[in-house]
Amino acid sequence: MAALAIAVYQFLPDLGWWRTGWQVGIGWAGVAALLVGAHRLPRPERLPWWLFAAGVFSNSTGIAVGDAAEAWFGLVDLPTPADPFFLGLYPACAAALAVLIRRRDRRPDGAALVDAATITTGFGLLAWVYVISPVGLGDPMDRLAHATQVAYPIGDLLLIAMTTRLLRSGGSRGAPFWWITGSLGAFLVGDSAWVVLDNMGGTGEALLAEPWFSSGLESVFLVAFTLFGVACLHGGAREVAAPADARPAGLGKGLLALLAGASLIAPAVLAAQTAGGQVTDGWSIAACSAVLFLLVVTRMALLLRHVERQARQVRELARCDELTGLPNRRAWNDELPRALERARRNNEPVAIAILDLDHFKRYNDTYGHPAGDQLLKAASAAWHAALRDIDVIARFGGEEFVVLLPAAGAGDGHRALTRALEATPLGQTFSAGLAVWDGAETSDELLARADTALYAAKAAGRNRVEVAGQSSRLAA
Ligand code: GH3
Ligand code: MG
Ligand code: MG
Repeated sequence: MAALAIAVYQFLPDLGWWRTGWQVGIGWAGVAALLVGAHRLPRPERLPWWLFAAGVFSNSTGIAVGDAAEAWFGLVDLPTPADPFFLGLYPACAAALAVLIRRRDRRPDGAALVDAATITTGFGLLAWVYVISPVGLGDPMDRLAHATQVAYPIGDLLLIAMTTRLLRSGGSRGAPFWWITGSLGAFLVGDSAWVVLDNMGGTGEALLAEPWFSSGLESVFLVAFTLFGVACLHGGAREVAAPADARPAGLGKGLLALLAGASLIAPAVLAAQTAGGQVTDGWSIAACSAVLFLLVVTRMALLLRHVERQARQVRELARCDELTGLPNRRAWNDELPRALERARRNNEPVAIAILDLDHFKRYNDTYGHPAGDQLLKAASAAWHAALRDIDVIARFGGEEFVVLLPAAGAGDGHRALTRALEATPLGQTFSAGLAVWDGAETSDELLARADTALYAAKAAGRNRVEVAGQSSRLAA
């Protein structure tokens, strides 16, 4: 429907008010769609859509105001009565985007902010050098006219900043998200086209005199009006403001290209002015280059910190058993030789034990595998609590656990393990083999002795702690 209305607009004859009415009608239809769509949402979620509606209403009504002012009062010089209406779009949309961004990203996202700042700084320099600064040099009598003319690129910059930030936000990217982005993009394309036409002087005026061209340009804004409505009427409109899950700060190809492009605007402007024979904006270019460099360095630092944090997490995960949260076999294999070395240096005893749940297969078969998992979790937590603070318990694999008992001989070790055995939850038991380090054997030899003792504990009827005999080396 909306597409049809815009298509018809291309062929609408120049019957004065017909064209105005058609444009305003499409704008107000967009507003109506936004209001209807917002009404379908839960009350607290309506605000951003109302703000968009206010912006679109203000902007599209401006078309009628402008045409009326021109037809009835001959007002064409800036600022026209239409300008406040046109400009109303910017604060309204910026406020809507601010609300959306805040709802999507509950936690502040430094990287996204730096990206938005980088892109805005780059485009800000363009706007300054080619639009704002030339305008400002004019006749001081026309302050208000200049201010009005400058307000548009500044509003555009505001929208560029907010749109970039929206694109960098986490959360769903369903159809409505892209409709909104497309709508804001259409406004920016339309505004940029006006700026380019203004700078083209005579050629621009000639182009605007062509009916097909001016209708085409006006249609860009009509598309923008309708896309907002389409977004809001879409079934997934709620998702746009839904909070994001903790998405990692990605740096996709498109974003990378955009950031690179924005960062290169400053040298490009300098090159263009140098080629033109006169560098008129040296200070602005230098200032923006400096800001861009600092932003790039900040972004790099943020990314590096992110990578370091992830590497640390991966290292920790690699040493941790997923089910029980205990250190895993890899961590144990690193820890045991170190513990033996420490014991040697401090001239202290050290013992280790291997624990194996009794009849765990039967438990699994009776209560199911998930219940078996729960037992493993509960038991490991209970044992950890029953052992001494300095003891380390790790999951060796399956239903087998290993315990490191620093500064413990056979007596202390046996007492600690007996406490653990009594703490075993859900009426279950384990068998354990305890071996005290002989001061010379390797980690593997020590483990082998504990395993033999475990085997003996099982053979002796389970639910007990068996102490390994003296190592063969000492016995020999
Ligand atoms: P024993 O008293 O002789 O040790 O008998 P058992 O049944 O405990 O020993 P067995 O080695 O026959 O069976 C061990 C069982 O542990 C078999 C396996 O399915 C189960 N198991 C191993 N890892 C897991 C796990 O992560 N979760 C669950 N639920 N079961 C596991
Ligand atoms: Mg086993
Ligand atoms: Mg077992």
